[in-house]
Amino acid sequence: MVERVNITIDGKAVSVPEDMTILAAAEGEDIKIPSLCFYWGVNDCGACRICCVELEGSDQLVASCNNRVYEGMSVKTDTDKVRRTRYTNLELILSQHEVKCTSCVRSGYCQLQELANDMNMGELRFETSAEPFVWNTDIPVIRDASKCIKCMRCVHVCDHEHQAVGIWDLKNRASRKTIGVSNNQVMEESPCTYCGQCIIHCPTGALRERDDIDAVLSDIANPDITTVIQIAPSVRAAWGEPLGLSHDQATVKLLAAALRRIGFDYIFDTDFSADLTIMEEGSEFIERFTHRDDYAWPMLTSCCPAWIRYIKGQHPDMIENLSTAKSPQGMLGPVIKTYWAEKMGIDAGNIRVISIMPCTAKKHEAAIPNLQDAGFGPDTDYALTVREIDRLIKSSFIDCSTLQEEELDSPLGIGTGAAVIFGATGGVMEAALRTAYKLVAGENPDPDAFFEVRGLDGWKEAQYEINGLVVRVAIASGLANAEKLIQAIKAGEVEYDFVEVMSCPGGCVNGGGQPISTSLARAFVRGEVLYGLDKKSEYRFSHENPSITQVYEEYFGAPLSERSHHLLHTDHHGWVMPSNGK
Ligand code: SF4
Ligand code: SF4
Ligand code: SF4
Repeated sequence: MVERVNITIDGKAVSVPEDMTILAAAEGEDIKIPSLCFYWGVNDCGACRICCVELEGSDQLVASCNNRVYEGMSVKTDTDKVRRTRYTNLELILSQHEVKCTSCVRSGYCQLQELANDMNMGELRFETSAEPFVWNTDIPVIRDASKCIKCMRCVHVCDHEHQAVGIWDLKNRASRKTIGVSNNQVMEESPCTYCGQCIIHCPTGALRERDDIDAVLSDIANPDITTVIQIAPSVRAAWGEPLGLSHDQATVKLLAAALRRIGFDYIFDTDFSADLTIMEEGSEFIERFTHRDDYAWPMLTSCCPAWIRYIKGQHPDMIENLSTAKSPQGMLGPVIKTYWAEKMGIDAGNIRVISIMPCTAKKHEAAIPNLQDAGFGPDTDYALTVREIDRLIKSSFIDCSTLQEEELDSPLGIGTGAAVIFGATGGVMEAALRTAYKLVAGENPDPDAFFEVRGLDGWKEAQYEINGLVVRVAIASGLANAEKLIQAIKAGEVEYDFVEVMSCPGGCVNGGGQPISTSLARAFVRGEVLYGLDKKSEYRFSHENPSITQVYEEYFGAPLSERSHHLLHTDHHGWVMPSNGK
């Protein structure tokens, strides 16, 4: 039982739990203390000293983000000394920051810029000197050291408690302190998963995704090229946020209208290929389940490319546990460049497949050398993040609030509610169970029968009986949770048949390519949007998608057919992790 203590904040007497920080106690009283490096649940190292406050009876100022309250404490949050100290601290931070707001990708939603505005920052008194920007700008995650404020958020979000990869680390000492890739590695040879969680936690433009907008615009402008864009399930829960649209306004059909204004020729739904993934992965699970001795066990999902990089980098002995089914992005590209191109009579060599993804790791996936199964270069030419598509809409001066919704193109533009929930942790498992039930029992279950796999818990488990067969499933989101789960499997402490992992906490709704938000609560709201769409869907089972039936009848024959294996599956061995050669 947590005791309560009596404290005073700016003269107001309050009673608060004794394990609270000063910052949280003030927030509970609607007293705003500015902060910069602090990130709830991730970073409270007090590096920036912007949240400093004065304690009565002490000459020293303390950081409010990591100092706890005690009985009789009297805090002053807005004295002259506090204001001057915060101002000087911010000036010192800016003196090591390349202030190029007009050409910075984060301008308009940069926490440093916002704080400087809020604190009425004027002419800097100190000479400025920023680190140089030296980086390989071809890889999905880009770090511009000239904009780094050494807040430590990236270090902590990538460490063992969150993403369990430990890519970032402090380097050098004192005034030369900086952040770099740990163990003297270079990023492109490190086991970074490209999940992008460090990007969405960075308060400035120091971390960002590679921007592929110019290349896409060149293809749009080329009359010989047919551009085909696909929209991932979780995009519909977030794309409107930076554009000031409510979740009700920002539908996938409104996004389709904006994409047509930009000039994309065809608009398809990655929901279609999420349904295709379920058909293939669900069938693969049943094949493995009924011949368990022939396969590595349990089966792991394979639709998150950061998770695949994690397995290849950290647990290469479990590569065979991964489902061979490609991700929805990985499936739609070859379907467009084969089945659809033939159907439309378009030279597949002149098609460019672009995807809108919640994800920076999808840029890596698009560039994997052996995902070129259609035979016309990369199956997916460009993967854009939601942030990139929002920037493209803005720079095209499109006011989405004046557009009318438009239908996506057919037949690859139809998806089910089962596909929509792919974007939330547990969604792939739930969708797979809906179809696996039908395949085993011969009839549909209640579409909400598997609700136990929903929710933001980092490690969930459930057990279902289908026609006398007991299926044990587990779901993890966030790589540290996945690591705990894998360690428990390896130690024999738990046994599962089917395990879903999403690298980003909460799943793709909180993906590294989504609009920047400062709390996991956003993932809950976005997840609820997807579950609401599932409830309203005309079809809630992947196997009932009429376009799926059509594509099997006209092209693939059946799940796991020879053509399916060629275009829709991969063994994950066609490329190696530079960090360990596996
Ligand atoms: S790269 Fe971003 S998150 Fe990392 S220390 Fe620098 S400013 Fe902070
Ligand atoms: S992209 Fe993910 S794995 Fe790579 S450094 Fe950032 S948080 Fe760590
Ligand atoms: S959870 Fe989703 S957004 Fe995050 S890395 Fe995996 S696929 Fe990408």
